[in-house]
Amino acid sequence: MSSAKTSSSGRVIEREVRRFEAFADSFRNFRAHFDNERIFIEEPSDDSRGAVAGHLADGRYLLHAFKYQFGKKMCERAAFQLLELFGSHLPVRKRDLAHIRMVFSSGRLDAREFVTTVFRNRGDRFLDIVREHGMEEDLATFWGVYLARLFRVRAARHLREDIDFFDWRDWRKGFCPICGHWPAMAHVDPGETSRTLWCLNCGTLWPLQRHQCSCCLNEDRRRLDLLGPVDEPSLRVQVCHDCREYLKEVCSAVHVDKFPFDAYFLGSHSLDLFARGQGFTHESALAVESDNTSSEAHLLTHRMRLPWDH
Ligand SMILES: [Zn+2]
Ligand SMILES: [Zn+2]
Repeated sequence: MSSAKTSSSGRVIEREVRRFEAFADSFRNFRAHFDNERIFIEEPSDDSRGAVAGHLADGRYLLHAFKYQFGKKMCERAAFQLLELFGSHLPVRKRDLAHIRMVFSSGRLDAREFVTTVFRNRGDRFLDIVREHGMEEDLATFWGVYLARLFRVRAARHLREDIDFFDWRDWRKGFCPICGHWPAMAHVDPGETSRTLWCLNCGTLWPLQRHQCSCCLNEDRRRLDLLGPVDEPSLRVQVCHDCREYLKEVCSAVHVDKFPFDAYFLGSHSLDLFARGQGFTHESALAVESDNTSSEAHLLTHRMRLPWDH
């Protein structure tokens, strides 16, 4: 059969995962570094946050409704520190990273504007920026998503402070309840029928039943498949024959709260190539679809088309 039919072996993926563990550790330290600092200059008031549970109950993700403002200095510090971190883990991209650094340090691009653009899912504007300043799109996306995650994780924590009572099983959606993105990976406990979805963009975890497409909510088992390397049954992609989306999945005894999602997500890139080689797709981390459509609008429109009460 064609190469698209073969997925890379589990051993190769495990080796890649080990390689990305160091990056994931550094990123955790980077975030911890900002833990006790005030990273927003304006947050939604506690009054408005009373509406959080109402938004969730209505099936609306939270960062769309609650606005955060960023400080220029904080965005600059975070941007340069994260560039440094990327440089030490991605030596082969040193030149491209140096170019990104120059774009910011020369004042040609404002770090706050960049963070705001990514944070608000403005994919069209993001692509304009990338092209205007000659950045490499894959690297700028990867770096931008991790940069915005510093802010999204904090916003997620802030918004969730008051809603411990909300049962996340009631969300029943495939997209992230906090930032609206599609999950980047799923975690399944061995022998369990439930699974937990992980958001790359804000680190949120939420449950969705095992045999269901996270994108179109299709529950017909005949229209869903699990594919993956034959020598490593714990790493797979769930594919949906209705909407043609796929989701990477890992089965692990490591508790979901302790699971190294970043290392597995980044280290299993060959699974993405495998799934795409078979004609399945997965939404970009930035939800960039078209130059002419606001991605925020697209993101919402896309979700409006979904059979919400499937
Ligand atoms: Zn999220
Ligand atoms: Zn589907």
